[in-house]
Amino acid sequence: MRNGRRRRATQEHLGLGITKKDAEALKNLGKDRNALQHYGLTHSAEAVESRAGMVLDFLLRFLDTQLLPLLDTEERESIEGDMSRVRSGLNTIDAFVNERMNRLRGNELKGATDSVLPCSVCGQWAPAVIPNGAHCHFCGTDVSGEELAPAFQEFEPGHPVNECPECCAPTLACFAFMDGAGEEVYYCFTCQARYSPQELTNCGGCGCLWPHEGDDDGTTQTLCGDCRRGIEEEERASRW
Ligand SMILES: [Zn+2]
Ligand SMILES: [Zn+2]
Ligand SMILES: [Zn+2]
Repeated sequence: MRNGRRRRATQEHLGLGITKKDAEALKNLGKDRNALQHYGLTHSAEAVESRAGMVLDFLLRFLDTQLLPLLDTEERESIEGDMSRVRSGLNTIDAFVNERMNRLRGNELKGATDSVLPCSVCGQWAPAVIPNGAHCHFCGTDVSGEELAPAFQEFEPGHPVNECPECCAPTLACFAFMDGAGEEVYYCFTCQARYSPQELTNCGGCGCLWPHEGDDDGTTQTLCGDCRRGIEEEERASRW
């Protein structure tokens, strides 16, 4: 956390206006460069194109707003040719990404607004959840539920993920599907169970999340399956 704060402070200090999305795109570019250098890039062509587009977009904005204004006319004219080549390359990439995303929205992703996530590989809102994970329709990446749940839960990285009341897998995360201000749901990346935040409460025994029991008047304490069984066994043992 301290690291994160320091990073933000530095960016503010320099007045570079680097957004979280830009920083993420740059970080990914660094990873791609290392991967290319050391063991070859394994992402699909679609993923590389989409990521390159995001980074180029950032770099062009950065050059336009931060660096070009500092150059004199002669210097600016000398890089004009390179700049326009990069701009037209970016337009080609953007056209490819837009066309592909539009096609997906009309087909594979049609009506899937409540089951689409952002992709950590290509950056597009194109992975749709499936049992035990998600499949990205833009770049073809499959991600498992165990990998997705920690990335989407509301807590700090490293916090253990909630167990699902339905299937007991530790893959119950709380987040909103789709870009923008969607409704938050508790979603299990293993069995696809969904709960609204109001449906779940903490078990009176162990504190895990569990569906409310009985009336919502606060008189009945909710106990999860494990704790209920534990109490029943204790009661049986005390009767003997
Ligand atoms: Zn993807
Ligand atoms: Zn589950
Ligand atoms: Zn419990």
